[in-house]
Amino acid sequence: MDKQFDQFRASLLYCNKCGRAMPVRERLLLVLPDGELYDYLCQGCGSSLGSKTERSTSKVSPVKIPAAPQTPPAGGQKRLPKKKRSEI
Ligand SMILES: [Zn+2]
Repeated sequence: MDKQFDQFRASLLYCNKCGRAMPVRERLLLVLPDGELYDYLCQGCGSSLGSKTERSTSKVSPVKIPAAPQTPPAGGQKRLPKKKRSEI
């Protein structure tokens, strides 16, 4: 039986150093709030051949920004409108 090479989800990318399409290895670079940034490394020479962002749409949990609490004005005393006095 032929062993298929699908245990890694390896894809081929063209490598300039190797001069041919090479199998690449996924490496997790960054975990972003809306996804994960992967780097593709050539398995031949180890150089980076590209990157991709996998967005995790399934785990989206909307972050609700708490609204600013409405603080009553300090003092609580109503300011009466000043009556204009015409002082002569
Ligand atoms: Zn290479």
